[in-house]
Amino acid sequence: AELYGVSEWGAGFFGISPNGDLQVTAEPGNFTNAVSIPEIIAGIQARGLDMPVLLRIENLLETQISLLNTNFLTAIKSLNYKGSYLGAYPIKVNQQQQVVEAVTHHGKKYHHGLEAGSKAELIAAMGMHTDDESVLVCNGYKDEEFINLGLHATQLGYNCVLVIEMPGELPLIIERSKALGVKPILGVRVKLSSQANGLWAESGGDRSIFGLNAAQIVDIIDRLKDADMLDCLQLLHYHLGSQIPNIREIRNGVAEASRVYAGLVAEGAGMRYLDLGGGLAVDYDGTQTNFMSSRNYSVDEYCVDVVEGVMTVLDEQEVDHPIIITESGRALVAYYSMLLFNVLDTARFEPEPLPDSLPEDTYIHTQHLFETLQSLNLRNVQACFNDILYYRDEVRQAFNQGKITFRERALGEHVYWQTIRRIAALARELPAIPHEFEGIIQTLSDIYYCNFSVFQSLPDAWAIGQLFPIMPVHRLNEPPTREGFLADITCDCDGKIDRFIDRQGVKRTMPLHALREMEQYYLGAFLVGAYQETLGDLHNLLGDTNIVTVRIHEDGKFDFVGEMEGDTVEDVLSYVEYDTKALLTRFRETAEKAVRKGMITPNQRREILQAYKAGLQGYTYLEG
Ligand code: PLP
Repeated sequence: AELYGVSEWGAGFFGISPNGDLQVTAEPGNFTNAVSIPEIIAGIQARGLDMPVLLRIENLLETQISLLNTNFLTAIKSLNYKGSYLGAYPIKVNQQQQVVEAVTHHGKKYHHGLEAGSKAELIAAMGMHTDDESVLVCNGYKDEEFINLGLHATQLGYNCVLVIEMPGELPLIIERSKALGVKPILGVRVKLSSQANGLWAESGGDRSIFGLNAAQIVDIIDRLKDADMLDCLQLLHYHLGSQIPNIREIRNGVAEASRVYAGLVAEGAGMRYLDLGGGLAVDYDGTQTNFMSSRNYSVDEYCVDVVEGVMTVLDEQEVDHPIIITESGRALVAYYSMLLFNVLDTARFEPEPLPDSLPEDTYIHTQHLFETLQSLNLRNVQACFNDILYYRDEVRQAFNQGKITFRERALGEHVYWQTIRRIAALARELPAIPHEFEGIIQTLSDIYYCNFSVFQSLPDAWAIGQLFPIMPVHRLNEPPTREGFLADITCDCDGKIDRFIDRQGVKRTMPLHALREMEQYYLGAFLVGAYQETLGDLHNLLGDTNIVTVRIHEDGKFDFVGEMEGDTVEDVLSYVEYDTKALLTRFRETAEKAVRKGMITPNQRREILQAYKAGLQGYTYLEG
């Protein structure tokens, strides 16, 4: 378990069974009735679905919704906070109907609401929302249609808050509210000067593209006063960014926002809600630090610090405690999904052994390489590394200048790679591996070719270097004997995962098991429920994967409660505007011409056409 850090990043949901299977439980920390992931894979295959598969476990989402709400309720009670807490799930984090349904259905007992940042999200939210006590927060830039929809929601009794993101939105809101005869609930998004660190930190700070500065908010207040609508301004919103690893930055944001809130109360606005946006981080690497892929606080600490932070400022200013809203997305949905995929093949870097000596007429710099290899030891490893780079370049140059043959160049490179192998072995014995050796260790490691697309299924790993826990889902009672990184099936040199979670931060390779004859080897990428699905793209026309949803029961049995086939080739071709019927017609004609020219028989034509049609209807990933 320790090798892959399951107990550290798994939040109690994942564990390893005595027979070496990765297992998942609906009750964090209790594995009595846990379900084996290889067993789920067997069930998926029995249903005729191929890998890769995005597996969602319904219970995990529900547990996370409860965890956040109960922690806030506990903090409120224990600190004697006079206001309350309401969650607003930001639809953008995972827009799938199943997810939004789970939030509105399971979250109903906590009045967990929704946050929409576009018209499409608002329309989805209005159709899913059923609870008059929850909030529906509308962020994002708004046109007349967006504003009208929000006002209609208010007419239907939703607590729908139109958050002003740009000064120009206010005149339109005032005009539309008057036209429809609706008293709107308004919010303002403030640009705080507090800023967070992390991969997604640019949502906060003075240079953030979102929100209003102090002068713009004062102007909004004045204009609302003039329109006799200042009581409509009820919510203050800010968002410092997603995945904030450091609790200090969260506390700074809360303190500054609470002061702004008190300022708005003093101005006479009808303030009720303080909305902190998202930012509650997920501990992807399990280090519990302020590394980008971690967080140095627990959910419980987050809730206590937020409630306490608001109280401290507002008590001092003698302002009533507001309803605290958070728009946590990542922390609710990340655990819910995992990507399961099979390894197709591996490439090992193992040059043939060298002879004891080289022929006398060997090119001089190849001889130098050979001598360096023989003198190599732990003390001179760095000097030897520098030398062999020089000699290797000399060998290559000699070849380019026509001084040595291709075979002589090959011998020089062969000696070079054997020396690199030896350097890598010695580097592992050093107390700390020098940075420049990490690259060579990776060069020598195995490549595991895997049946998935980084661009479709783990886009943040490619785009911004996000780390996800990745590990085999079986054979975990067997020590892995190989070190490797993963290549996907896109034909793109970025289509790889070569950064893995590690207690020190990041590792370039991961331990893996050797493949066995006639046996599949399955890996999983975990905590992929947030942002990855809709950010994924069609690079190389690899489409949506198959999706399976499972519910775990108290007795450890599980049901397949949802099954969605991934894109077919026909689907992805139509996304890039092919007319697949026309493709087929043209292909038929090409095949007919081949018959006429005697290149194939009519029977062969039939087989070829059948294969083409089956290909159109098939999965975009490797099957079988
Ligand atoms: N609210 C707003 C306005 C956002 O832009 C985002 C995403 O960045 C979120 C909430 C969700 O943040 P998180 O996933 O960190 O909870």
